[in-house]
Amino acid sequence: MLCLECGKREAKYDGLCEECFLKKVKFTAMPKYLEITMCPHCHAIKLGSHWEHVSLEEAIKKIVEKSIVFEHEYDSYSYTIKHGEIEGTFDVEVEIEIKYRDLKVKETHLMEFHVKYESCPRCNRFFGNYFEAIIQLRDMREGEVKKILDFTYGRIEHYARKNENLFLTKEVEKKEGWDLYLSDKREAKKISKEICHKYGATLKESPQIAGRKDGRDLYRVTYAVRFPPYRIGDIVEIEGNYYVVEEISDSFIRAKDIKTGKRRNVDSKKHRIKMVEKGEEIESAMVIYSHGNEVQLMDKNNKIIEVVSEIPVKDGNSVRIVRIDDVVYIVP
Ligand SMILES: [Zn+2]
Ligand SMILES: [Zn+2]
Repeated sequence: MLCLECGKREAKYDGLCEECFLKKVKFTAMPKYLEITMCPHCHAIKLGSHWEHVSLEEAIKKIVEKSIVFEHEYDSYSYTIKHGEIEGTFDVEVEIEIKYRDLKVKETHLMEFHVKYESCPRCNRFFGNYFEAIIQLRDMREGEVKKILDFTYGRIEHYARKNENLFLTKEVEKKEGWDLYLSDKREAKKISKEICHKYGATLKESPQIAGRKDGRDLYRVTYAVRFPPYRIGDIVEIEGNYYVVEEISDSFIRAKDIKTGKRRNVDSKKHRIKMVEKGEEIESAMVIYSHGNEVQLMDKNNKIIEVVSEIPVKDGNSVRIVRIDDVVYIVP
């Protein structure tokens, strides 16, 4: 059979000879002009319906791959991309090599990419003061605010590594503590619980309706984190006995009896734990003489104190003392 087009050579492809086939058939087509949408704040690039943090080169590659239109059947193909920037416009040359039966065909397309800037949804939220939750830190002691805030920032950073929608929108220092506004209420709850666990604080959750979106109520949640009155090292009273706090968790404290030196775990929700003295305010005294459980001490005003103590002490050593109802105890 001869070529339908020229009638001279043998027909090999679609009723045409090789020469006429290659003249007539285009395997691929591509758009001449394309837009890339980039966020001016975080440089995320919009690919289809979602935003990704990829380089412009990777984005162009993904867009090129999606834009190749095949207009004739083929066996396989490969392509290379060359591009250069000219003031916000990228001229991209795409060379496609198609294999079709025993033919190898190269087709070249010139495309122009324009970069369009549009704020991504995440940055829209961020720059729009978006928040879903407030963590309220309450009843902190003066010297520990920075430590607690640093711990909280650390946890926010930790969760933000996996969830790019999590950020600290703003923070406000108040007379009664700190308010941290967060963009994600689920992560805010996790973080609040972690603070509670570390410091033995209690958590109160209060949701408020903040509006409606897509037919559903939008909730904002306030997580009030209340620190307990006691800290590790403080002297507390539990059921008429006095203890040094050694460990705190969200449900119990581990404490040492200052008379006997014995340790016990106390359920902090079931027992009333009364503050007696802060650890940093405990005074020290010198052991002058001790015999059995009778101890003679000298306090910081050089006054001699007689103490009965179950806690063994050594002469000449410094000990910490606490005075409760005119009785002096040596703190173990
Ligand atoms: Zn022909
Ligand atoms: Zn962005």
